[in-house]
Order: sequence, then C-alpha cells, then structure tokens
Amino acid sequence: MPASSTTPIFNNSPEQNAQLRHNWSIAEVQTLFDLPFSDLMFQAQTIHRQHFNANEVQVSTLLSIKTGACPEDCKYCSQSARNKTDLETEKLLEVENVLATAKAAKEQGSTRFCMGAAWRNPKARDMPYVVEMVKGVKALGLETCMTLGMLSSDQADELQNAGLDYYNHNLDTSPEHYNQIITTRTYQDRLDTINNVRSAGMKVCSGGIVGLGEESKDRASLLAQLANLSPQPESVPINMLVKVEGTPLSDVDDLDSFDFIRCIAVARIMMPKSHVRLSAGRSAMNEQMQAMCFLAGANSIFYGCKLLTAENPETNQDIALFKKLGINTETIDFGDQQQQTTNLRTALVNEENKELFYDASV
Ligand code: SF4
Repeated sequence: MPASSTTPIFNNSPEQNAQLRHNWSIAEVQTLFDLPFSDLMFQAQTIHRQHFNANEVQVSTLLSIKTGACPEDCKYCSQSARNKTDLETEKLLEVENVLATAKAAKEQGSTRFCMGAAWRNPKARDMPYVVEMVKGVKALGLETCMTLGMLSSDQADELQNAGLDYYNHNLDTSPEHYNQIITTRTYQDRLDTINNVRSAGMKVCSGGIVGLGEESKDRASLLAQLANLSPQPESVPINMLVKVEGTPLSDVDDLDSFDFIRCIAVARIMMPKSHVRLSAGRSAMNEQMQAMCFLAGANSIFYGCKLLTAENPETNQDIALFKKLGINTETIDFGDQQQQTTNLRTALVNEENKELFYDASV
C-alpha cells in the first residue's frame, strides 16, 4: 500500500528533508519509495531547488580508453570476456589520441572528460600511461574523471597527484542482490576502492544499475549504501539496465518506468547535494520520461556518447529536448561561458561528433 501523503518520516518539511544524513535504514528508504508519486516528486523537486538551479544540467563527455576483454563476470556487461557479445575489443588507446579527443570535447563545450578502461584493476605497467592522460586532459582545463576498476591506495594517490578530480566506481546493486550479478569481486572490494579514492582526496562518482532483476527493497538498499557513505558521492549515476544479447541478463523483465523515476527522486532526496546522473538506458526513454527524470532531480547526463552497452539518444534529440524544457548546461570557468554554451549546442546538433565518444561509466 502506498504510504500516506502525511507519512511522518519527513513531515513534508523541505528544511528537514534537506538535512544530509548517513544513517538511513532500508525501511526508511522504502517508505520514501512507497509515497504517492506526486508527493515523492514534490519532495524531490523542493529539495533539488534548495541546492541546484533546477533548469541546469551538467554535461560530461566519456571516452573508452580500453574496451572489452574484461576478466570480471558482471552479468549485465557487454565488455566481460565471459559474455559472448558482438562488442569489438580495443587495446589501451595511445595518450596522444586521448588528448586529441579531449581537446575536441572541450572545443565542443564539454566541461568534464571521463576516461574508462575495462579492467579488473590497472596494472603497474598501465599506470604511467593513465597518469599522462590525466595530466594532459587537466592541462587542457577540463575536469578529469576516470573509471579503471579497483584501485589500491597507492594508485589512488598517484592519480590524485597527477590531477584526477573524480573517480567513478559504482556499487552496482544492493549488497543482498550483489552475488546474483558479480562473483569476481566483493561488495567490500568496491567499498574499499571508494574509500581509497576518498582518502586520496579525489571526488567520488558512484551509483548503480536498476532493472537487474532486483526487488524494490534492493533499490532501497542500494540507495541507503550510497547515501550512508560519508561524505556522500559528489556524482551518483543511476543506470537503467540496457539488455545486451549474449549477456546473462538479456531476457530479464523490464523495470517499470515509474519505478526508475522513483529511484531518481529518492536519490535526490537522500543525496541533496550530489549530481544525480541520468546515465545508461536513456536511449530507451522517450522525451516525457527524461523530462520526468529531470523533474525528479536528475541534473547530469552524458552527451555525444556511443554507449558501450547501447547507444545514447541521437545528440540532436538531446538539444531539442533541452530547448523544449528550457534547460541550460552547467559551465565551469575556462573562458567565455557564452561561447562554451554555444559550442556545446553546436556539438549536440553535429551528427559527426558522436563517433568520437564512448561511455565507459561501468
Ligand atoms: S562492468 Fe566493468 S568490471 Fe564488470 S565486466 Fe564490465 S568492464 Fe569489467
């Protein structure tokens, strides 16, 4: 049964709702999920407006620097060597290629450049190359982000010293559902990497995937894990599973759209200061659903990406939707912000650009 709109857990008080908390119980989160939809959306939108410009979305560009042949057994992933998909594998890109792509992304108005590699963890021989990539992208004036798998504390320190701003490492799902999805690394391994990243002084990007055949209480448990991290992750990608033929989850039941939107809204309420990223799975969402996600508090997307698990919507559709909704893109100060926005809009309508970009947010 849906909870009453007068459910006392938050008293519908925006001030109380906006408190940062790190002691969420799964039952409390479930109570949020059970709110009547309009009440949940109102709470999420109210909190969103206390911390962000509700009409701004942060835009990141992603590049896969090493694609496929991953030894891990994530059951949703086209990059796992254990899953027989059509994905073409690529070795580690040369530093010069990565920097050329980053430069193009900056010229097209992107503010953050994310680089992803399908590794269990970076090996010692890989580190000099990724360090050079971080230094080079940073020197361009872009925010830098990487996702390379598990990191030791020494590796986290090395990347931080090179200038890495963000590290992405998702929790993927609840601790309870985790063993159904991945067996080659533990939940604690993931928490340890996040802790190493945080201890090194970098910002954390961590979220999960929904639609993995989990139950509602697993989605509540995942969000409790993320919100109870102290500090909370600065970026929280919420991915909708993209079913890829050849993966064990290719036939899993679809998640109801409203359950996905509820996830975004509950994440916004629990992590009021984090960027909540509408991530993989956007290609399956129509404009109305994406608009509902923005209304629920999503305020970050990838653009111009060819997702490794599925293609994003056509880039010109992104800009058309932004125009319809009156959404602007967040900027960082590396010059003429008006020009930066113009460049981004140009890039978004330029079909040629999409070949450059890949998502490596897994
Ligand atoms: S999600 Fe990451 S770690 Fe898991 S198989 Fe895919 S690339 Fe490897």
